Amino acid sequence: MSERLRGEDAWLHDALARFAPGPGVRLGPGHDCAALDVEGGTVVTTTDVLVDGVHFELEACGAARAARKALAVNLSDLAAAAAHPAGFVVGAVLPRPPSRALFDELMGGFAAAAEELACPCLGGDTNAADGPLVLAVTVLGRPGPAGVVSRAGARPGDELSVTGPLGGSRAGRHLTFRPRVAEALALARAGVPHAMMDLSDGLGRDLPRLCRLSGVGATVDLEAVPVHPDARAQEGRSRLDAALGDGEDFELLVAHAPLDAERRAGLRAEGVTLVRIGHVRAGEGVRVRAGDVERRLEPFGWDHLEGEAGGPGGGSRA
Ligand SMILES: [Mg+2]
Repeated sequence: MSERLRGEDAWLHDALARFAPGPGVRLGPGHDCAALDVEGGTVVTTTDVLVDGVHFELEACGAARAARKALAVNLSDLAAAAAHPAGFVVGAVLPRPPSRALFDELMGGFAAAAEELACPCLGGDTNAADGPLVLAVTVLGRPGPAGVVSRAGARPGDELSVTGPLGGSRAGRHLTFRPRVAEALALARAGVPHAMMDLSDGLGRDLPRLCRLSGVGATVDLEAVPVHPDARAQEGRSRLDAALGDGEDFELLVAHAPLDAERRAGLRAEGVTLVRIGHVRAGEGVRVRAGDVERRLEPFGWDHLEGEAGGPGGGSRA
């Protein structure tokens, strides 16, 4: 691996080397979900930990919306695997002293989200500690019509598409977004995805991950990237930079064979809009193109362990 990993990717690369693959593991760590063969089938699973002050602001959004986000981000990972939700378990650490009102609002939020997002609660555990509210959700699912779709499988010549506009999610969308489960299943039914992931940390950081696991490179046409109206220019960063780096878009990034107009129309009839943003090529790394100018894109976007780093010009921000 000649590409240098940074931040969370480097930490995880070293950690994952410690774990031997177990029997029945169809898809191991590094993708949006893992898949385990059990008697009679395959279980798809994924987990996410959300912390007050990092992934939501409890005082501003309330516990019910934090709970909804905790389930929705997991279902977004499940969508990336084009899997059917089967249920979830939740671990909640309440700030000490634990408040009954907070607990009730939290569980009301999980109950409402379970119904809205069609994913029943299977159980969980509650604790209290001197710290912020922490919500750990694990979702279980069943493989969809195309089996378990992973981040590996993109091939040179594939198109790269996203299911919606990017950037500015923290203005509010990160609490209210609808995970693209139905869209992913429709794509899988149509046999479209070669590789797929959900965009949680920004296209600039997530696309290199998909490329790495697929063993390919990619070129992004910057003029084709759909920028959300909420994306804001600030501190020398353009709205396009926001679209590439803000993160928490929770749209799907799909590598697929080129689609003709008829197949695109068929997908649109199923409620799936695919916006083409570039293509997969042999080699490694991500290049961006604007007009006749093409250059390498250093991974940037949100890093969970080192914070926001890098920029579309490459290099780390001090
Ligand atoms: Mg993901």
